[in-house]
Amino acid sequence: MKHYNIPIFISHFGCPHTCVFCNQVKINGRETDVACSDIKDIIEEYLELLPKNSIKEVAFFGGTFTGIDKRIQEEYLATVEPYIKSGLIDGIRLSTRPDYINKTTLDLLKKYGVTTIELGVQSLDEGVLSLSERGYPAHIVEAASAMVKSYGFKLGIQVMPGLPGSSDLIDFETARKVVEFKPDMVRIYPTLVINNTKLEKMYKNKEFIPLSLEDGIKRVLPIMTLFELNNINIIRVGLQPSDDLREDGVVIGGPFHPAFKELVETKIYGDFLKILGYEKLEVVTHEKNISKIVGMKKKNKLFFMNRLTIKIDNTMDLNIVEVNKIKYTRKEILNKILESGI
Ligand code: SF4
Repeated sequence: MKHYNIPIFISHFGCPHTCVFCNQVKINGRETDVACSDIKDIIEEYLELLPKNSIKEVAFFGGTFTGIDKRIQEEYLATVEPYIKSGLIDGIRLSTRPDYINKTTLDLLKKYGVTTIELGVQSLDEGVLSLSERGYPAHIVEAASAMVKSYGFKLGIQVMPGLPGSSDLIDFETARKVVEFKPDMVRIYPTLVINNTKLEKMYKNKEFIPLSLEDGIKRVLPIMTLFELNNINIIRVGLQPSDDLREDGVVIGGPFHPAFKELVETKIYGDFLKILGYEKLEVVTHEKNISKIVGMKKKNKLFFMNRLTIKIDNTMDLNIVEVNKIKYTRKEILNKILESGI
C-alpha cells in the first residue's frame, strides 16, 4: 500500500542550541509557530486529497520535537490522536536530537501513537560534532538509538556529510557506525551553507570550505552504497529543493542539486562500467534501469560514446544488469563499487 506523509513543519524558535549550519530564527518568547488548529486544518486538507486506501502518517518535521515544551508536545499529539483512533491516520513520525531522548519522552510518544523517530545525528565524529557546535558527544547517539528501538519505534537517522572537520574517511566511518545501530531508514543531507548561519561566516572567513557538487557526489556515494548493502531504507538524499531554498542568496555554498540522488546513481553505474574495464560494453537491462545507466544529462553515455550499447529487455529482473552477457545483481554492482574505493 502506498505511504503518504502529512507534513507539519514546526519551527523550534526557542532552541537553545547553535548548530553552525542551522538558520533558525530565534524569536524570544515564542516556542513554535504552529497552532493545534493549524494541525487540524492541514490533516483535514490532506485527508480530502489522499487516496483512502493508503498508509498515512502525520510527520512533524523541521524542529526538535521532543525539545519543545512538554505541554505543547502533548497538545500537538492529542490533536492527532482522534484521527489515529478513528483509523484515518496510521501513525506519527517526528524528528529530534539524540540528546532529547529519554524514558519520560518516549513514554509520552508511545502513548500517543508515534511510530517513527528520526534522530538528527549528523556525524559520529567528536571533532566534527564539536566544530559544528551540535552540543552532544557521539556516544550518546548509540544509547538514544537503542532506546528508540527498545520501545518498538522505527528508527530513522539523518547524517550530514561534509560538515566542518569532516573528510571522506570520517564521514564513511560515521556511516559504518550508523549501520551498527540498525536504523530502519536514513536520510543523507550533504552539508549546505545557508545564509544567516555561523557556517556562512566561517565560509566567508575561509574557515570552512564546503564540498563542491562533484565532491559531494563522491562523498555520498560510498555512504549510500553502504546503507543500501545493509538493507537500510534510504528515504532522502540531498535537501528537498523547497521554494525557500531555491530563493536567490539562500544557499551560499555546498553541493545543492534538486536531483542529488540521481547524480549519485549516475556515478554508481558510470564507475561500475569503468571498473569492468571492457573496451566494448553491451548492456542489457529492464527499461526502468536505463536512466541510471545512461546517467543524468546522458553523462555516462557521453563518456563511453560508441563503446557503450544499451538494449532494453523488460522480461529481465529489475535487479539485474547484464554486461557483455554476464549478469550482475544490484548488490554485486554496489559491492564492486565499495571494494574499488573509487
Ligand atoms: S539544527 Fe536543530 S538543534 Fe541545531 S540549532 Fe537548529 S533547531 Fe537547534
